[in-house]
Amino acid sequence: MCFRSKARTLETEVLCFLFVAEEGSQRANYMQPSKIIPLIPANATPATMPGAPAAWPRNAPTSFHVLGKPSGATCNLDCTYCFFLSKEKLYPDSRFRMTDDLLEAYIHQMIESQRGPEVTIAWQGGEPTLMGLDFYKRSIEYEKKYARPGTTIQHTMQTNGILLNDAWCEFFREHDFLIGLSLDGPQTMHDTYRVDKGGAPTFHKVMRAARLLQEHRVEFNVLTTVNAANADHPLEVYRFLRDDVGTQFMQFIPIVERINENGEIGFQDGNQVSERSVTAEQWGTFLIAIFNEWIRRDVGTVFVQMFDAALASWVGVPPALCIFSETCGNALALEHNGDLYSCDHFVEPKYLLGNIKQKHMIELVASDRQRQFGLHKRDSLPKYCRECEVRFACHGECPKNRFIETPDGEPGLNYLCAGYKAFFKHIDRPMRLMTELLRRDRAPAEVMLILAAEEAQVQKAFARAGRNDPCPCGSGRKFKHCHGR
Ligand code: SF4
Ligand code: SF4
Repeated sequence: MCFRSKARTLETEVLCFLFVAEEGSQRANYMQPSKIIPLIPANATPATMPGAPAAWPRNAPTSFHVLGKPSGATCNLDCTYCFFLSKEKLYPDSRFRMTDDLLEAYIHQMIESQRGPEVTIAWQGGEPTLMGLDFYKRSIEYEKKYARPGTTIQHTMQTNGILLNDAWCEFFREHDFLIGLSLDGPQTMHDTYRVDKGGAPTFHKVMRAARLLQEHRVEFNVLTTVNAANADHPLEVYRFLRDDVGTQFMQFIPIVERINENGEIGFQDGNQVSERSVTAEQWGTFLIAIFNEWIRRDVGTVFVQMFDAALASWVGVPPALCIFSETCGNALALEHNGDLYSCDHFVEPKYLLGNIKQKHMIELVASDRQRQFGLHKRDSLPKYCRECEVRFACHGECPKNRFIETPDGEPGLNYLCAGYKAFFKHIDRPMRLMTELLRRDRAPAEVMLILAAEEAQVQKAFARAGRNDPCPCGSGRKFKHCHGR
């Protein structure tokens, strides 16, 4: 995900998509060939690097993204909707701590597997701070040991913030970490599901973490899950994050918890969802309400990842979000013991590619199995999606959510389809306006002026309209039956 954007204007945000997008799977496509600074010659093989495979495997991507899970699925919270927690069952006797040997091997392989100049070391969990600060200090030492001259290493960490203190924040600041902080909105909404092991609320601890990050000038995004507790309060959530937390960068993730036929939650099977899940309609309405506020007053000052991804699609460059890409497969997950999985949402035996202690990471990433995993996103789309007018922006979203039937009974439609369809149709015109502004080398933020002027015109027309005139809004109804009521 394009966590790392340091862009402060929408124009440079789009350039971010083009040139420095964070999603490993996208970066090669964004870069124009002339912009790629080869640190190693195109014909180089990793055989020149100790411990590396004899040659770049066929299909090896130029770059890719791995979410490192050094403490596996373990966490100091007990969020009721968390699908990671159930993953502990995969490793029944494990202590869930990445060893130092494996940490070194991971950093080494990650650096030597990337052919571009940038490497992202991304930490997630469970809760990655459970590893303790020294673990990450060692990871920096290994980066220094293995980085080639000119390599830029970026660091990200997704955390619940509970353990953060001055020492953590000083470390983040020193090494320019981009932090993702999990916060589900105002107190009552956040505390509905985000509780600790004793069931106690966590809102104040997370807010404390946000303030600490701000005091230490650590760059952070807020990641908000959209669930049954907050889905009907989009503006309250958005304004809280913008005005009370003071964050400019937001990510919204829909909670879709599938229940399988045994009543279990946590793996990608079953076509029922839990009561905590958001409905497709709620999801669409949530996004539309926030978009309506953002497009009128916050373009260029608040960055909502989903809106940025949508703009990329309208502009015609691949979005920096795998869920909206045509194919995927370049965003993998590394478990605490070196097991590499196709994706963080598919940490399941069926999607285990191998262990990086036995096989170099690049061979697993370039394997036919992983390639097929990524192509499946496109090739498994039902006809309903293939013919959909907003397919260019949606691409059927993530395969993990494709478990309902199309209106004509074909399986494989996305559970959130109705919401996405409504959202993408709703934003079409403003997205076209911003795309046109970009083409004319003007700031997309000007869209706010255009829309304000249009709305002023409509208001004037309302003021002049007679009761039996056609409504100026264009509905085709009489004014008295429409806005004149
Ligand atoms: S399965 Fe979903 S989350 Fe995973 S890489 Fe593909 S689109 Fe992204
Ligand atoms: S909006 Fe629905 S039909 Fe269209 S591509 Fe997305 S999931 Fe498929």
